[in-house]
Amino acid sequence: MDTTNRRDILRAAVAVGGAALAVGTAPARAASRPVTQSPQVQPPLPYALDALAPAISARTVDFHYNKHHKGYFTNLAKLVAGTAWAQASLEEIILATAGKPDSKAVFNNAAQALNHNLYWQSLTPKGSAPSDALNAAITRDFGSKAALEAELAKASAGQFGSGWGWLAADGGKLKVVATSNAGTPLTDGATPLLVIDVWEHAYYLDEQNRRADYISMVLPLLDWAGASQRFAT
Ligand code: MN
Repeated sequence: MDTTNRRDILRAAVAVGGAALAVGTAPARAASRPVTQSPQVQPPLPYALDALAPAISARTVDFHYNKHHKGYFTNLAKLVAGTAWAQASLEEIILATAGKPDSKAVFNNAAQALNHNLYWQSLTPKGSAPSDALNAAITRDFGSKAALEAELAKASAGQFGSGWGWLAADGGKLKVVATSNAGTPLTDGATPLLVIDVWEHAYYLDEQNRRADYISMVLPLLDWAGASQRFAT
């Protein structure tokens, strides 16, 4: 056996050992999947396609959920296959890749996947009310729920280009922020409570360029009960 052959055999043994180790340490939920496949799946839409009409039409929800949102998961799965991110959660991927030019595509698709998960959870067909604890924080930090909604609407409408309008909790204090493209308050250490998607695909079929109309129709559908649960954890 010459040196080259010995090296090849050694390399093969290391590769097999590495693969076995990866399988042995994979999370239980991924046990039945190939180790290179992302465990991230698009959550089911929490209501029927037409449940948010007339604020958001069934056609818009269909395109938005089944094309745009689904596309981010599809792209992410391709991007992370066989990489260190193959088994990571969306949050782990987002925090690890934020601001890194070499990982921009991974960040964008992971953040858009998670931002849309929260967007669908932020809406509910008839709206809902905040808990006493969230209501108290709203009064403390904004004066009233109406004042908070006005600030959220203003930030969302004023976001230049594609992005998101958020209510987030930062060290127990509530704040309204807008982010561009795939941005999320998570990367600033804040907890997102509610989000309004202001990418044009969120409203263009229904309101064309009238973003402010879309926002005013969406505000009464915000799921403050869901936000209260996220605020409590
Ligand atoms: Mn969107």
